[in-house]
Amino acid sequence: MKPFEKILTKNMSNPAYTGSLQDYEAAGGYQAFKKVLAGVPQNDIVEMVKKSGLRGRGGAGFPTGVKWSFLPKGHPGPKYLCCNADESEPGTFKDRQLMERDPHQVLEGMAITCYAIGAETGYIYIRGEFRFGAKVLEKAIEEAKQAGHLGSNIYGSGVTINLYVHAGAGAYICGEETALLESLEGKRGKPRVKPPFPATHGLYQKPTVVNNVETLANIPHIVNHGPEWFASIGVPPKSTGTRVFCLSGHVKNPGNYELPVDATFRDLIMDLGGGMRSDKPMKSFIPGGASAPFLTPDHIDVQMDFESVAMAGSMSGSGGVTVMEEGTSMVWAALRLMEFFYHESCGKCTPCREGSSWIVQILQRIQNKQGRPSDLDTLTEICSNIGGRTVCAFGDAEIAPVQSTLKYWRDEYETLIAEAEVIRATRKEREIPVLSL
Ligand code: SF4
Repeated sequence: MKPFEKILTKNMSNPAYTGSLQDYEAAGGYQAFKKVLAGVPQNDIVEMVKKSGLRGRGGAGFPTGVKWSFLPKGHPGPKYLCCNADESEPGTFKDRQLMERDPHQVLEGMAITCYAIGAETGYIYIRGEFRFGAKVLEKAIEEAKQAGHLGSNIYGSGVTINLYVHAGAGAYICGEETALLESLEGKRGKPRVKPPFPATHGLYQKPTVVNNVETLANIPHIVNHGPEWFASIGVPPKSTGTRVFCLSGHVKNPGNYELPVDATFRDLIMDLGGGMRSDKPMKSFIPGGASAPFLTPDHIDVQMDFESVAMAGSMSGSGGVTVMEEGTSMVWAALRLMEFFYHESCGKCTPCREGSSWIVQILQRIQNKQGRPSDLDTLTEICSNIGGRTVCAFGDAEIAPVQSTLKYWRDEYETLIAEAEVIRATRKEREIPVLSL
């Protein structure tokens, strides 16, 4: 693995670093915000972020600067920034660490973003279960206000920025940006039909940017070191910078690891993760959170940038890498994920609401050796009637585990169905004929 310098986890890698304002400032914190408010035009910041090639770290990977530039210019009313901290993707836990261990890095990123897009108010929509993270952020906001980094007339510039923490209530779908906005407005967290997009009709129908925690945490570093520096890391121009990858599953050393995006899955799983936890070989891995199709050991040398993972047939999504060893039933793995998606479907559209329930029922009967020979065709058909036919991207995400396990491990499904056939035939043989007297 090539040597590189950590960006987002550099501070927290120091055991003495507490995440306090004092520690953050001692490490150079809030210098980028000061530099920006000293007279960098708002549009220059947007152009800087565009030039850096930074892409969203929440899952979709949309170019951040381009997203900011969609906000209408000269809009007379309020604009909003929402930090998506509703980290609920199974196998993903990096935003939690970034918020708990270095909260001011996220706040500074938000402050610069608010300035760049002309928003005076920013909300951190945090997953309800992250109570500790919410407390840490609230304390950090108070510290920043007291020190004059937030509030009115910041550094005498006349700029006002206030940030608030809002805890969700535990729904996975509130990580979808429009469901997040609905929830923030006090309504049920259900995705909106788009267009219109949040850039023009977001929070309270006002122009809004929704960015992930890790995405925002990168902003002060881009301002401090320049977009060329950021763009030189990774695979320019499309996949740049580092990412905090979350490693979990059957590995020796699970955890969060920051790596340049052009590192390979081998670097992460074998070098940093220490390889498999037992002497069993690897069977499969999910490369980007539960919504990403499974990959096989043949893909271990694929680079983790957005394009390379897409070319391998999956997506780098949220950066959550979950590894499974030989002996893991892939039908069982697909069922576990599908049960999660069925539970979390918001129910707004029929293909997702009904289809997820049907898939779970079919997978359950296959797993319980009660499957039917027609089940695999039925599964394929249901998936094709969900993909691309739903209000939000959840529909495409929920079919990924089924489609990818059918692609690579169809024989496991067929074996279980064949066993079910034998069981049915044996039962029939043992049936006692009814005697007619
Ligand atoms: Fe809700 Fe699923 Fe439709 Fe998304 S795809 S709006 S989660 S029912």
